[in-house]
Amino acid sequence: MRQTMSMAAVIPNCFSLCLALFNSHKLTTLVSTPWKRTCTTHVICHAKKEEKLVVVGGGAAGVYGAIHAKTIARHLNVIIVEKGKPLSKVKISGGGRCNVTNGHCADNLILAENYPRGHKELRGSFFNVHGPEDTMSWFSSHGVELKIEDDGRAFPVSNSSSSVIDCLMSEVNQRGVSMQTKKNVTAVSVLPGGKFLLEIKQLPAGSIEHVEVDYLLIASGSNRQGYELASQLGHSIVEPMPSLFTFKIEDLRLRELSGVTFPKVKVRLKLDSLQKNIPQLTQVGPMLVTHWGLSGPAILRLSAWGARFLFSSGYKGRLVVDFIPDVHVESLKTSLSRHKLQFAKQKVINSCPLEFGITKRFWSYVLERQGLSGDILWASISNNSLMSIGSLLKECAFEITGKGPFKDEFVTAGGVPLSEISLNTMKSKICSNLFFAGEILNVDGVTGGFNFQNAWSGGFIAGTTIGGLALQSQS
Ligand SMILES: Cc1cc2nc3c(=O)[nH]c(=O)nc-3n(C[C@H](O)[C@H](O)[C@H](O)COP(=O)(O)OP(=O)(O)OC[C@H]3O[C@@H](n4cnc5c(N)ncnc54)[C@H](O)[C@@H]3O)c2cc1C
Repeated sequence: MRQTMSMAAVIPNCFSLCLALFNSHKLTTLVSTPWKRTCTTHVICHAKKEEKLVVVGGGAAGVYGAIHAKTIARHLNVIIVEKGKPLSKVKISGGGRCNVTNGHCADNLILAENYPRGHKELRGSFFNVHGPEDTMSWFSSHGVELKIEDDGRAFPVSNSSSSVIDCLMSEVNQRGVSMQTKKNVTAVSVLPGGKFLLEIKQLPAGSIEHVEVDYLLIASGSNRQGYELASQLGHSIVEPMPSLFTFKIEDLRLRELSGVTFPKVKVRLKLDSLQKNIPQLTQVGPMLVTHWGLSGPAILRLSAWGARFLFSSGYKGRLVVDFIPDVHVESLKTSLSRHKLQFAKQKVINSCPLEFGITKRFWSYVLERQGLSGDILWASISNNSLMSIGSLLKECAFEITGKGPFKDEFVTAGGVPLSEISLNTMKSKICSNLFFAGEILNVDGVTGGFNFQNAWSGGFIAGTTIGGLALQSQS
């Protein structure tokens, strides 16, 4: 900040400050070449160190981090460099409604269980510092009321992701964070003295600028370039791969059930036995039949927990579905025998065992899979057939032939390993004044607002740590 003081009062201090700054190399960035001419104003202007934070990426983590850094250290020059449009994933998230966080996980240990990558590490301080409740109260105190749906997902009351974007962008503007779009950070190195030197390419023209910065927050999501920047600064990268996808199943009969939902099934993944140390992957929850295979919360959760194993098996494997998970196989078989006696004179297709929530469409699929005509009477079904119907309902196998699309949410597993950062500051353990937040880390959550929560928590912790350091260096 410029101050007006008389030349006489200023010059002696000014000179020694200039000298000190010059010796410590900082002057080159603070005062442009004709420093003698402008000495009084410029040096007084920078009597307190003017520090710069560059945030790579204007997504949820980067924007939230920048806002919080600037909230703590108002003097800090905070610049977000974004190669595309800021908050573009927030815009399309949750089908345009933005599932901001999850409101059903008051216990942080339970919350951490929703992160296939990160569940152990995130049990600690991470969500204690800034968890879902903090996120919800921050948004509500900044004008975005949220509502929690039955399954825990929190959305803006407006049902529009624009509310979230408008709120964040208004904070960016009010706090004086500079948002520089259509610029790509292409390389980074550390200068002697510890500052970062960034190479930034203007898009699409391609002109290049070099910028020196004191603090660097990389919040570039799952972008390949972000991983390269992290590697250039000495970090390793856990191989990135998709998480949260549906299963492609080649079964023409199943396709006829497209649109049918099962409120509660138990799904189990069985992968190539050649892979070592595959844990038992099981999920319980709703499942949906699509025209390419199987989807729904239980499948998506299974895909997230099995992401690495499925990737290595080329997305081939066997899915075993228990359609009636709350009933033991023997009780089910007994009930089917009872049903046979009770409805002996009815056609099997016309009398499905409704007590298990089986729909007529699915019942006809089961009969077809068993090679039974729906026109026979219950009385003529052999006991063996009845027992195998029971087994099929409890252990119905489907061959997974690939990864299906899932457009509502998609996230990348892999990135900067959590062992290389300190989660209570988001600071790199490898490079001084370097921070990470959001999806660039080897953290990913299941569906339900958990991925944004990782971005808000990480952004908050990184931003407030950087703000604190900038304040300290002022004093
Ligand atoms: C369709 C879809 C829907 C989703 N819905 C939900 C949901 O409802 N709830 C939920 O919790 N999660 C959801 N997710 C996941 C969630 O969007 C991400 O986990 C979250 O956006 C990650 O935030 P981030 O800031 O880490 O990364 P991003 O949001 O990906 O932001 C990173 C930004 O960095 C920029 N960038 C990258 N490299 C550079 C560079 N070198 N120079 C300059 N800029 C760069 C990118 O352009 C990008 O804007 C959804 C994801 C998708 C794809």
